[in-house]
Amino acid sequence: MTVTRFAPSPTGYIHVGNLRTALMNFLIARKAGGTFILRIDDTDPERSKEEYVDAIKQDLEWLGLTWDRVERQSDRLDRYAMAADELRRMDRFYEAFETPTELDLKRKKQLNMGKPPVYDRAALKLTEAEKDALRAERGAGVWRFKLRQERIEWTDGILGDVSIDAASVSDPVLIRGDGQVLYTLASVVDDTEMGVTHVVRGSDHVTNTATQIQIIEALGGTVPQFAHHSLLTGPQGESLSKRLGTLSLRDLRAAGIEPMALLSLMARLGSADPVELRDHMSQLIEGFDIERFGAAPTKFDSDDLYPLTARHLQSLPYDAVKDTILAAGVPENLGPRFWAVMRENITTLRDLEAWWALCRDGAEPVIDDEDREFVATAMEMLPEAPHDESTWGQWTGAVKEATGRKGRGLFMPLRKALTGQSHGPDMAQLLPLLQTIRARP
Ligand code: GLU
Repeated sequence: MTVTRFAPSPTGYIHVGNLRTALMNFLIARKAGGTFILRIDDTDPERSKEEYVDAIKQDLEWLGLTWDRVERQSDRLDRYAMAADELRRMDRFYEAFETPTELDLKRKKQLNMGKPPVYDRAALKLTEAEKDALRAERGAGVWRFKLRQERIEWTDGILGDVSIDAASVSDPVLIRGDGQVLYTLASVVDDTEMGVTHVVRGSDHVTNTATQIQIIEALGGTVPQFAHHSLLTGPQGESLSKRLGTLSLRDLRAAGIEPMALLSLMARLGSADPVELRDHMSQLIEGFDIERFGAAPTKFDSDDLYPLTARHLQSLPYDAVKDTILAAGVPENLGPRFWAVMRENITTLRDLEAWWALCRDGAEPVIDDEDREFVATAMEMLPEAPHDESTWGQWTGAVKEATGRKGRGLFMPLRKALTGQSHGPDMAQLLPLLQTIRARP
């Protein structure tokens, strides 16, 4: 049974980088007919906020990334305490008392001597009396997991064979001085107890994985299949970390990006397969293969989402957009025609509002000086409403006869006079939708 999880920390809104992780885990579970768990990593009571938990759920629901179960780390603190006790019993856990400043100094010294900045395990040499004294002076220490100094190896679903020398990694702190259990331990306990079989996450977790493999083995768990996807960069390869705040799923949603556009891009970006716009999640599930993804940093350009959104919208029947169209104020009887005319002329559904405003209120006419007389003549010839789709052809035919103008010189000034712009929907189809025509003399 395949079990995967998406494990965000509710300390902010989730962004495209998180989405990549969520989507890959979701697709693996769904493709295998397995279970997808939403795990809220909220062991940090100060930074975790309920409003972010709600927001994460809303964002995933918006995209259709449905989960089978929610788990919260804050509900499972007793499990982590038990695991910690077990590690203590096995002598794989030790208390250390260095202050951040002391650790920093040690690191600097090591670097100066050309050595890797790995924790020197000084705390292992403390006697009980020394520990008591330090505890009295500084309060409880942190708890570090004692790594076995050997190579840690696994076959990564994306990176292939990985081998990390445990001696080049500091013994990880699993419990802070204030007693807070850190994610490195909590995650291992959860993954083991919840039977997680596959863990996909960002390549910033590779070192964590190495240490977590040893913790899992110490606790007698089964090591899941790990895969580390590359991190997203901006279009020029620049780091996205600072911009991720502006690439939250809520922002993309507010900008009018369609779920299937975003999902289609993210399901393929960074893989050997081309991005293909899909209509349904089932197609993404069908076409997903983690092994097609590469380790190189993946360029992400949010501008790519707009043409995909536009193409997705063009494929939608009226029923799929009816609510949005009516909410924009389009009368029910005009709705289907309005959609048929506008769908090719929008990038996002938000553009519909501007088109409806134009239809309803008319546009400020744009008339070049040399066309003034021509437009005035033409407008006098425009039949009274109601107009239908033959009106434009009949009218411009008559205007052509009367003025001798033809082609672009005939049509463009009329388009600009009626819509205030030089681009837009086919005029024969648009004219019957115009409720107000301001260019009439
Ligand atoms: N809460 C962790 C994070 O957001 C989860 C990492 C993992 O998937 O194990 O980075």
